[in-house]
Amino acid sequence: MRKRINLNLSRLGGKRPALAVIALLFSMALAGTTRGQAANEPALPYSPSLDLSSMDKSIDPCVNFYKYSCGGWQKKNPIPADQTSWSVYGKLYQDNLNFLRGILEQAAAQTTQRDAVAQRIGDFYFSCMDETGIEKSGLEPIRAELEAIAELKSMREMAPLVARLQMATFGYRSILFEGGSDQDPDDSEQIIASLDQGGLGLPDRDYYTKEDAKSKEIREEYVRHVERVFELLGDSAETAKKNAETLMRMETALAKASMTRVDRRDPYKLKNKMKIPGLEELAPNFDWKSYYSVLQYPKIEILNVGVPAFFKQLNAALASEPLANWQTYLRFHVADTSAQYLSAKFVQENFEFYRKYLRGAKEMQPRWKRCVQYNDYLLGEALGQAYVRKVFSRELKLSTVEMVRRIEDSMAVRIQQLDWMSPETKQQAVVKLQGIRNKIGYPDKWRDYSTVRITRNEFLGNVQRATEFEHRRQIAKIGKPLDRGEWMISPATVDAYYNPQMNDINFPAGVLQPPLYDMKLDDAPNYGNTGGTVGHELTHGFDDEGSQYDAKGNLKNWWKEEDRKKFDERTKCVSDQYSKYVAVEDVHINGRLTMGEDVADLGGEILAYMAWGTATSGKNLQPMDGLTPEQRFFIGFAQWACANERPEDQRVRAQTDPHSPPEYRINGVVVNMPEFAKAFSCKAGQPMVNSAEKVCRVW
Ligand SMILES: [Zn+2]
Repeated sequence: MRKRINLNLSRLGGKRPALAVIALLFSMALAGTTRGQAANEPALPYSPSLDLSSMDKSIDPCVNFYKYSCGGWQKKNPIPADQTSWSVYGKLYQDNLNFLRGILEQAAAQTTQRDAVAQRIGDFYFSCMDETGIEKSGLEPIRAELEAIAELKSMREMAPLVARLQMATFGYRSILFEGGSDQDPDDSEQIIASLDQGGLGLPDRDYYTKEDAKSKEIREEYVRHVERVFELLGDSAETAKKNAETLMRMETALAKASMTRVDRRDPYKLKNKMKIPGLEELAPNFDWKSYYSVLQYPKIEILNVGVPAFFKQLNAALASEPLANWQTYLRFHVADTSAQYLSAKFVQENFEFYRKYLRGAKEMQPRWKRCVQYNDYLLGEALGQAYVRKVFSRELKLSTVEMVRRIEDSMAVRIQQLDWMSPETKQQAVVKLQGIRNKIGYPDKWRDYSTVRITRNEFLGNVQRATEFEHRRQIAKIGKPLDRGEWMISPATVDAYYNPQMNDINFPAGVLQPPLYDMKLDDAPNYGNTGGTVGHELTHGFDDEGSQYDAKGNLKNWWKEEDRKKFDERTKCVSDQYSKYVAVEDVHINGRLTMGEDVADLGGEILAYMAWGTATSGKNLQPMDGLTPEQRFFIGFAQWACANERPEDQRVRAQTDPHSPPEYRINGVVVNMPEFAKAFSCKAGQPMVNSAEKVCRVW
């Protein structure tokens, strides 16, 4: 994966397998401009050349290649007030939002002669834009949930209530814990039930445990946010304060029992299969039978509990915290996860803490933009149908399929070239490579939302029903044959991912657009940019996590022991290199957290360079715009990552994002590529040139 998920919006808990470590290319906090327009307007003219104005030629490429390639972009693209960061990816996503807006406005305005897809996406959009109606309904949309919490009589009733609340709440976290289904780590063809840690309001468990001044300040601000949410629910200032303290104490206990992000990179630590009696033994104070019965799970033969220690702690808390405290906990989480879909004061409070304070945005995104994004998240494969008709031609598909094939061929060659790997392990690596499935553009079969009732006047109701549909879809998979054609992100998403349990690489139409991939451009920048993206996802199959899964997506070792040892030394070289970089102010990159992404960035670009060589072999490549073909390849690479970021956002990412900051995703790669030094005639000892003994190379 190249980017990361937006705090405010991120995907449905259930949509992502709880445990699979899907490597998303980038998935940045959303940003935006130009191409857009209404569905029937032509695209803006696009100049078929590298974007020279994004460069800063006053910088020596051998001193800071990222600044050289992106300095101009950074100057002419200040972060818009409603964004937490701004990037080439973010801008492209905003273009997509504009474009989707056109589709949605048309679908919303029409009320007759629409097909079922247009009805669904159009009415959803209409209901979201109906601010007057939303304002008028006040707390009504969550009244039933709040009443059910108020009526909670005994701890035995907790489980069915939590089941009900989880089913209907859409947000970036699940109530109390994450529950759903996942591929069996030992047998990827089987879908089993899964449970995982969750239930925290702050972005990571470390926010609750770190003792530095900034972490303490964030906790204090969070408690104030919780207080304000209770006040919005009608509590007196005094009660709200007391409730916020209770909430914070309860979340802290859960946070302490949660696994760190670095530990979660080890798939064996997350594999803890058991049967229902085992779960009942682990956490007897929660009525699992009634939880699963309310959610209508099929018969559960086996389930995977990602973090047993979390459920053990939850069990202890269920015994030690009085019922009233659980009511407090649930009330807050229902209101906080629904806040974005409620009246203006809830929306405002949610923005103030999560996007403004925590990530540095200055203004809220306009309503239409949020509404398009909710639509894309909840009904993405309905909205996506109109999108791909407009932006993904057959020629584009053929051209990108061809590029992917070339990159895979390069990987096969690369494996044979490795001087540190034994022939036996090489053979297994080739088997894994051959097992990778390529998914390009959009799904072969669209998701059928026909059972989701969408009306024009119940926004939160629509959100809840679409969320419930997604939960039920996840649950219904249990015991059924695996659908290898399924996608986890929508076609309009500007991102890509590798999923180790599916052993597939996925590139939605949204990420195969100019300026990332442009059929009017020559191969050098296209391979440098999108070729690198393809290579990045492919390399995820062979990074510190992906390499532990076999060709079928099972967690199964295929390495000879001495080869694995050499591999670990090589990945350690990469993580040591990145740990030296500063992410923001006093915070260094956590090289153990970003290891997989950094390995994929390096491997991806090496593969792209090789594939570009074969794609252009025999061609007489000429300099353009005063740049050699090799230079244009590397500038194309760097320009995928041009970005500006707010320090608040950088801080959140340093703690939660497995990707390094953009500058190091470029400079950290080129220092390890002698091909780069040669292209720009960089000399030994310059900052963009690692000395031979310091060069890191995994694949
Ligand atoms: Zn990645």
